[in-house]
Amino acid sequence: RADAAMYVAKNAGRDMARFYAPEMEQIAQQRLALEQHLRQAMALGEFSLHFQPKVNAVSLEVVGVEALMRWDNPELGAVPPARFIPVAEETGLIRPMGAWVLQQACGQLAQWHAQGLDYLGVSVNLSAVQLADTGLVAQVRDCLQAHGIPPEALEIEITESVLMDNTSLAEEQLAALKALGVQLSIDDFGTGYSSLAYLKRFAIDKLKIDQSFVRDMLADPTDLAIIRAIIALGHTLGLQVVAEGVELEQVAAQLKGLACDELQGYYFARPMAAVAFEHWLQERKQ
Ligand code: C2E
Ligand code: CA
Ligand code: CA
Ligand code: CA
Repeated sequence: RADAAMYVAKNAGRDMARFYAPEMEQIAQQRLALEQHLRQAMALGEFSLHFQPKVNAVSLEVVGVEALMRWDNPELGAVPPARFIPVAEETGLIRPMGAWVLQQACGQLAQWHAQGLDYLGVSVNLSAVQLADTGLVAQVRDCLQAHGIPPEALEIEITESVLMDNTSLAEEQLAALKALGVQLSIDDFGTGYSSLAYLKRFAIDKLKIDQSFVRDMLADPTDLAIIRAIIALGHTLGLQVVAEGVELEQVAAQLKGLACDELQGYYFARPMAAVAFEHWLQERKQ
């Protein structure tokens, strides 16, 4: 039996090698090409930001936007963040990219505030690599000062994994960011290895329920139960709770009924360029 098992394993291995090697090589080459283009992308001005509105769940008034990075490359086309962010993190390119996002987002917010849209806030996504940078807090402080933005108008979204592989540096930096007055939210909440201890340890302001739960909440009682539990947990700890991935009116209505604080998703608007967001806001008001 042991021989048979070994025979199967060996053959499986050989088949794997035969079938997957060329495919894997192709993937490796694509990844390399992506990395090479990514290294040039900033200098060539290929990045932009899109903004997706977040609304108050009760009044449906817009409270802010999430800044999401976009990359348009002449050869590769529009590359989704899910493809280029991991490469940016592995190569360290996320440092200058993240700094650029912060500058652009704050610059744009300052413009909107100057236009009278002073109730808007902006969220940016912060990678674990950025949080491991000792210069981060000064970078955020300088950026707020340079653009004259009230700290509480900036929200920083981090994922649970950032808190889990917590070094004391990450913990210190989050505390220092909090001390600046910016808001901290946990993105994709419920998908990480939720040790809830970090909710106590870190000065978190908001939980963002992961869209995988929101997507199926009408059909899947387990997802609905998880959403209820997250909202109850968040509110018990004095945190705001945001739901993302809201695609249907019924979902928005049910989340409002569950006392969720803010909503974000295609039902309200897709992420869009700054000018498109301004038009969208105008039309909504009329
Ligand atoms: P995320 O932070 O969870 O951002 C939300 C993602 O969900 C965005 O995808 C958004 O377009 C999408 N989304 C929003 N509403 C809906 C909806 O109703 N239905 C569906 N199906 N999707 C919705 P996007 O822009 O492709 O970004 C993907 C991920 O890439 C982000 O997930 C974030 O983790 C990362 N990312 C994007 N921009 C940045 C950035 O500037 N810095 C860092 N570190 N990561 C970023
Ligand atoms: Ca996010
Ligand atoms: Ca998310
Ligand atoms: Ca996500």
